[in-house]
Amino acid sequence: MSSASSTEEYVRIPIHEAAQIRICSSCRRTIVPGEKAVAFVCPNCGTVVVWRCYKCRKMVVSYRCPNCGFEGP
Ligand SMILES: [Zn+2]
Ligand SMILES: [Zn+2]
Repeated sequence: MSSASSTEEYVRIPIHEAAQIRICSSCRRTIVPGEKAVAFVCPNCGTVVVWRCYKCRKMVVSYRCPNCGFEGP
């Protein structure tokens, strides 16, 4: 017991910075930070950033813009 090291290693995660929730526009799944995903501005209205998870991008699932309703591959 006395040989236990006092090394305390823990990952500090800034929870307050996780306020920006990214949701895949195709499957409505939450994209966790660090996950492979792509983000692009809607080609139709150009005001909304559409997120797409890696899985949907790979499967070429169509997305839908929450602002203008534009659907595209
Ligand atoms: Zn998805
Ligand atoms: Zn749009």
